[in-house]
Formats: sequence, C-alpha cells, structure tokens
Amino acid sequence: MASVSFDSVTKRFGDFTAVSNLGITIGDGEFVCLLGPSGCGKTTTLRMIAGLETPSAGRVMIGERDVTFMHPKDRKISMVFQDYALYPHMNLADNIAYPLKVRGESQEKRHARAREVADILKIGQLLERMPSQISGGQQQRTSLARALVYPSDVYLFDEPLSNLDAKLRLEARGFLNHLQRDLGMTAVYVTHDQAEAMALATRIAVMDAGIVVQYAPPLEVYRRPATTFVANFVGNPPMNLLPVEAMISDGALHLKAVGLATAPLRVTRAAAKALESGKSLTLGVRPEHLSLASGGEENTIAGQLFANENMGPEALVTLEREDAARFTARIFTDEMVALEGRVTLGFSSDHIHLFDERGLRLPL
Ligand code: ATP
Repeated sequence: MASVSFDSVTKRFGDFTAVSNLGITIGDGEFVCLLGPSGCGKTTTLRMIAGLETPSAGRVMIGERDVTFMHPKDRKISMVFQDYALYPHMNLADNIAYPLKVRGESQEKRHARAREVADILKIGQLLERMPSQISGGQQQRTSLARALVYPSDVYLFDEPLSNLDAKLRLEARGFLNHLQRDLGMTAVYVTHDQAEAMALATRIAVMDAGIVVQYAPPLEVYRRPATTFVANFVGNPPMNLLPVEAMISDGALHLKAVGLATAPLRVTRAAAKALESGKSLTLGVRPEHLSLASGGEENTIAGQLFANENMGPEALVTLEREDAARFTARIFTDEMVALEGRVTLGFSSDHIHLFDERGLRLPL
C-alpha cells in the first residue's frame, strides 16, 4: 500500500480547465471518496492517478515515486470501472486471473489465487460461469476480484455501484466497507452519491467545478460544511438554507428574514467585527435539527404547510414561506401531530450554520 499526493495539479482540455490546482494527499490505507456533481472533475482526477490522463501542470506521487508521466502498467494500481469491463468470452476464473496472466504467472498459481479472492468475495461457486450468466451484483464482485487478485499500491474505483439496483447497491456498499476494514487498502473512489461517500470514506474530497472545496472526514463535512455548496450537496434532504440580514447590536448577532424569529447569537469579537450590520448572510439548519414548535424553542421559522411525507420512522414536513422558499424538517413519526395551514418549526442556536456572501462558512 502507499499514499497518493497531488502537488498543484491542473488538467486542461484545450482552454477548459477540468481540474484546478489540486493539492490533496490520500494517506496510506485511507479510503478517499471524490464526491461532486456530474462534470466537476472526479473521473479526470482518478484517471490522472491511473495514468490514463497526464496533468497539464503539477506532480502526482504514489508513495515516494513521481508517477506524473509514468506508464499506467508501471504504477502498481488496480482500477474498477463503472461498467465492470469483464471479458465476455472468458469465464469468471479467467477474468479474475487475467492480471496474473499478463504478468506471466503459471496457470496453477493463477487459478489458486483467483479461487482465493473469489471465495473472499463470495463468488467462488461461480468460477466456471461466463459473465453473461451471472447477475449485475455478481459481475460487480467479479470486477472487484480482478482488481484485488494482484497486490497493488492503490485501488481506484469509478462509480462501481452505479449500475446496481437500490437493494444490491446497499449490499455491495456494506461489502466494500467490510473489505476496506479487512484489507486496509489505499483506495480512491469516485461517486456523485453523497450517501455512498458518507458510508465508505475515511475522508471525502468534495469537488465543485474542478476545485476541491472541502477535504475532511465524512462527519466533519456533514457537521461543518465549508461552503453552501457542500451544505447543499451533502445530506438528504439537504441543509435548509435561507438568506438573512445580519445586524450586530450589543455584541450579539441578530438575524432577520420573513417568518424567522431568532434569539440573539453571542459571537466572538472578531466575528462581530467582520459582520458589520446589514450584511447579507445565509442561515443553514439541517432537517433533523428542526422540530415542530411547542413554544420552548430559542428560534422559529413559520410558513404554510407544503408537504408532509411519511417515511416510516420519520416524516419530512416541508413549509413554504411567503417568499416561496421552503424549509424541510425531519420529524420522528412518534412525535408527529396533525398538521395543516400555518406551521412553525423550532431549532436551537447550537445547530445554526452561517455562511457569508461568498457562501463561505463563518466560524461562530
Ligand atoms: P461524471 O460524474 O459525469 O463522470 P466527473 O465529475 O467525473 O463527471 P470528469 O469526467 O472528470 O467529470 O469531467 C470534467 C470535465 O472535463 C467535464 O466538463 C468534461 O466534459 C471535461 N472532459 C473530460 N474529459 C475530456 C476530454 N477528453 N476532452 C475534453 N473535455 C473533457
């Protein structure tokens, strides 16, 4: 295993910059998810580790080796593709053993190792079958087995679960998590599914338009999103975001918006200075930090009931404000009451997030 570092890496296609000044390090044994919307540069980043793209500027290191211009086959990496890329004319045993064949291992050794890895991945009984004779989930495991059959410094995954149905996807996700715990591999995993990144990653690199906007452990990203983009991208339903006007008086911060009542927030002197009165900020509150108001809350927001969706253990209650902005609360069904017309949701000052005009998190 080895670490991977990007040293000021930029990748341009013509005059379009797909990845801009990337400078992250993936530690030895870490499972890092590159997370972001379509086109933000995740796959390009992964392909630069694999050697399938060459950076326009900067350096890529695997361990102590500068691999920026190294041929893919010399990098000691394995890659699992979205479409599995299995050879249709080979049975599973030969598919899995293929990386050993190209490295000139004997047939006996190849088959023994393929069986060993297939057993770990619970497909040992399928080795004689052809790829067309197995399910999508089993194909995904075969592709994983092929990646694991030969020891690599780094394992690369490009949305490997996206072709699976919802149930298989959850099962495969749990399996990958288990595998990571067992093997402690260094892995870089591309996904646009925030739940997948939260479940699997030791650290998440959230990307927006070619830039890593936050690189932190999943709970840090969730609890302290660095920008409104991250706040909106991570979490389902996403964080509620509301433009507010900030007023400082008596050293306390007051937030103003239609339908919003907030307790004055004590802020540090430095924060108070930075927040001159009348500044536009964005207030953020996660759905699970809102409750149906009973009168004891420090802060409330009110509007007309827009939707009340029953999810089993929880319900999603959405209110719509006068300015058409919506706020969604996640309420335990046991705490639900009949709702109609005007609804008030409450929250605590401890669960407020604030972002400046540029969308950057303000430390409170
Ligand atoms: P997705 O989730 O849709 O796969 P992504 O985040 O992986 O997206 P990339 O595939 O890295 O995004 O692409 C980043 C940007 O670079 C996109 O706008 C894409 O169109 C562009 N791009 C990627 N490869 C090339 C190429 N070979 N030539 C020109 N533009 C490219």
